[in-house]
Amino acid sequence: MSMLNGRTALVTGGSRGIGRAVALRLAAEGALVAVHYGGDDEAAKRTVALIEDGGGQAFAVRARFGTDGAVDRLFEGLTTGLAGRGLDILVNNAGIASTSPVAHLTQEEFERVMSINVTTPFFVVQRALPLLNDGGRIINMGSTASRFAVTTQIGYTISKAALESMAPTLANELGRRGITVNTVAPGAVRTDMTAGYTSIPEVVAGLESMTALGRLGEPEDVADVVGFLAGPRARWVTGQTIDVSGGTYLGPLV
Ligand code: NAD
Repeated sequence: MSMLNGRTALVTGGSRGIGRAVALRLAAEGALVAVHYGGDDEAAKRTVALIEDGGGQAFAVRARFGTDGAVDRLFEGLTTGLAGRGLDILVNNAGIASTSPVAHLTQEEFERVMSINVTTPFFVVQRALPLLNDGGRIINMGSTASRFAVTTQIGYTISKAALESMAPTLANELGRRGITVNTVAPGAVRTDMTAGYTSIPEVVAGLESMTALGRLGEPEDVADVVGFLAGPRARWVTGQTIDVSGGTYLGPLV
């Protein structure tokens, strides 16, 4: 435990997948971590227990994004758990996929992906501002989807591009307080979100063949970069998108 001793963190969607790895990483560095989750009580309990078993500190906060009052519920649970302390690190990780091409993407699906991936993180940032300590960190979970043209991901791509667009403006506004704002953009990572295609060997082989480092990502590959951005050594990086994809789709590999 070291770099984040005495710090506090909120990780949205922190009970599973990339968010869980981020929560574990920040806690291992010494932060008290609020593990936000949408509805899977068991997963949240397991993540908090894993952190505590490793000697860290965490508490769970439940709020189903996309439902009325979710951001209020998140901040009620967060402020209770922080017990008067401010927030140092906000990781907007919770997100959902959208897998319909333009002809089939309904307004309902489009609005849902925008609600969870864009509107909610925006208002989480807004609500976090009074709680955020000077020298704090905001890290948004983007995606390489914002630089790829994948037909079936158009709604997801739009949402991640919009999320990514927040960082430079927020960085300018919050920089004088020493708060940095960045986007981490993973490539394909093995989680529940991608289980549908990462279980198909041909798809995995195709993805590996277009990735410089020759494999899919694991949640810890992303969490280590978030851990760096959250720590003091990233104090001079702000308003940026950091691609964390092992070099996916950089160009022909021949
Ligand atoms: P996941 O499905 O394993 O986890 C998603 C997390 O978001 C879960 O903790 C879930 O509880 C939370 N969440 C989803 N909907 C929610 C809601 N309505 N209310 C509250 N919480 C909700 O997926 P993951 O792969 O770990 O994704 C985490 C983030 O990383 C997402 O923003 C995703 O878009 C992004 N991402 C993932 C990949 C990948 O390949 N897995 C690649 C790029 C970006």
